[in-house]
Amino acid sequence: IKYNSAVFNTSAARLSQCPEDAGAEVAFAGRSNAGKSSAINTLTNNSKLARTSKTPGRTQLINFFDLNVPGTRIVDLPGYGYAKVPVAMKEHWQKHLDAYLQKRGCLRGVVLVMDIRHPMKEFDEMMVGWCESTGMQLHVLLTKADKLKRGPAQSTLLSVRKELKARLGDNVSVQTFSALKKSGIEQLHSRLNGWLQL
Ligand code: GDP
Repeated sequence: IKYNSAVFNTSAARLSQCPEDAGAEVAFAGRSNAGKSSAINTLTNNSKLARTSKTPGRTQLINFFDLNVPGTRIVDLPGYGYAKVPVAMKEHWQKHLDAYLQKRGCLRGVVLVMDIRHPMKEFDEMMVGWCESTGMQLHVLLTKADKLKRGPAQSTLLSVRKELKARLGDNVSVQTFSALKKSGIEQLHSRLNGWLQL
């Protein structure tokens, strides 16, 4: 699979607007500002694919990108965590995300993007809990690794990995990543390649 082949397919505001539930897809999730868009843009070597630093209100859509192998896609899930957003809008996002996660048969795995300086916040706990209860495969990107020295970055990697392995066993993997330094791309490729086999 060539990740730099990714092209925009559809934005969906509800499940019925998603592409046909066939083939294989991998979804990227993360709190707002975690670095999810930057990670997708780095993976696909396309600085314009996912919108970075989105404004609240534009983030409610699920965006689908087609890869070069027919039927394979990457999916950008809505970001969460803007304090300014009204509760009603958060609840709408939540319902939308729940519907996607629960009903999407072609979903092979979730990439959960966390800022390495602030791992395992409430949204992350929710996603981990959901993977725990459904048996969904999870890959955690501890991004912005360039913001920490090597020692602290490694110690966060080991502690997050230890905690998640205890909960999810072989269904979880954790790596460091940096969009700025373009590090961790090969490791991400190999995990996605495993998931996107048709
Ligand atoms: P999103 O809301 O999760 O999609 O986050 P963005 O990708 O828009 O990133 C949020 C902010 O973090 C932006 O200012 C990015 O430039 C910055 N950022 C994202 N990834 C990295 C990284 O790997 N290293 C550094 N130093 N900054 C990053």
